[in-house]
Amino acid sequence: MNGTIKARIESIFDQVIKRNPGEPEFHQAVREVIETLGPVLEKHPEYAEYKIIERICEPERQIIFRVPWQDDKGEVQINRGFRVGFNSALGPYKGGLRFHPSVTLGTIKFLGFEQTFKNALSGMPIGGAKGGSDFDPKNKSEGEVMRFCQSFMTELYRHIGELTDVPAGDIGVGTREIGFLFGQYKRITNRYESGVITGKSPAWGGALVRKEATGYGAVYFAREMLKVRGIDMEGKTAVVSGSGNVAIYAIEKLQEYGVKVVACSDSAGFIYDPNGLNLDTIKQIKEVERGRISAYQAIHRDSTYTAGGNIWNVPCDIALPCATQNELDEESARTLVANGCIAVSEGANMPTTPGGIKVFQDAGISYGPGKAANAGGVATSALEMQQNASRDAWTFEYTDQKLQTIMRDIHRDCYETAKEYGMANNYVAGANIVGLKRVAVAMLAFGII
Ligand code: NDP
Repeated sequence: MNGTIKARIESIFDQVIKRNPGEPEFHQAVREVIETLGPVLEKHPEYAEYKIIERICEPERQIIFRVPWQDDKGEVQINRGFRVGFNSALGPYKGGLRFHPSVTLGTIKFLGFEQTFKNALSGMPIGGAKGGSDFDPKNKSEGEVMRFCQSFMTELYRHIGELTDVPAGDIGVGTREIGFLFGQYKRITNRYESGVITGKSPAWGGALVRKEATGYGAVYFAREMLKVRGIDMEGKTAVVSGSGNVAIYAIEKLQEYGVKVVACSDSAGFIYDPNGLNLDTIKQIKEVERGRISAYQAIHRDSTYTAGGNIWNVPCDIALPCATQNELDEESARTLVANGCIAVSEGANMPTTPGGIKVFQDAGISYGPGKAANAGGVATSALEMQQNASRDAWTFEYTDQKLQTIMRDIHRDCYETAKEYGMANNYVAGANIVGLKRVAVAMLAFGII
């Protein structure tokens, strides 16, 4: 990278820190991307001339709103709602809603920034966005969750639309919450606008495979990374963190491919089952009872439950972080490598810290960053939008085939692009460069907006 471009990148990053104080996750996401862009900026001086990177780092719009609701005791509760439209160069804003007490504007901005690159990489006509609230759905009654969702949508509805901004689920937002949100949107607007939100139940406009898509997609991506190295997944051992939507369907697909998945977790601890996890039990605990993963141990006596602890100490060939950001640090990465891990495919967004990523890359193992490996979720959301627009409903097999093709294409694009820019096997650089180039083409065409 020449000195001028290096200085330019440093200056862009300094500006991002100055303009967005107290948002370390957003800074981390920006740094991870712009650090890899030197070679593409050398080839495309017009990106600098038109300040493409500076514009990409500044959200197009940020909405913050009060969400008042009443709990079951009649007490008034106040939460904060966010929706950040990051970039709409390639299509309507698209990205999930996260309900978790840790959510801040900085969290939503990191996710929205990542989403812009991911959505471009998916090859679908969608821009990047994210939203959510510091509301904690845990230990809330169904009525409380419904009243919160209704209040949240009472403000959000005026900012979204099938051609403007299309939210979906993320941590703490599944089909139940999407139902409450869509119901309130329909009621306020007097429109049955299916394409305004994705992650709907197939019973009322949702797409088959959407529920499975992120987890399945992360496994398809892992399979592609291993395939280029001539390695088959069958017979390997895996560890998957989390036990939510992404983790459950990653485990399902891994098991289908003959991989033994020995551990998964929630925010309280992890279970280890030397016989391989029983997925029916996990689905029953997490999807039906909305319980804690510790309950698994009482049913499968050979398993062990570790409260707290570090799931990455469990030896495995393949690791799928599917819980949350920065859950896999440098020390955990070293442990995984020392224990013989050959591939990491991220179901979660930014789960590996920068130090952890460096360990994987230095060790030469296959490392698939979230914006590539978990893009199957949003890609299938775009397939849901397509079905809504044409009032059609595709079969599971047909949709899954499309998902597999999309994940193969994403892998190929990242792999080939990294090679083209002299960074072979660096999927982080490949993903960032492909995403940037697709967004930049449209931004340049639209002029200074
Ligand atoms: P869920 O809410 O269904 O599950 C989240 C899982 O992660 C739970 O097991 C949860 O444990 C655990 N978890 C959440 N926060 C923390 C934390 N701070 N520390 C430790 N564990 C935590 O969410 P999803 O499965 O949908 O999302 C998981 C990840 O995948 C997120 O990073 C999300 O952004 C990403 N993602 C999701 C997509 C989707 O389609 N759903 C698409 C692309 C990415 P507990 O129940 O104890 O909180």
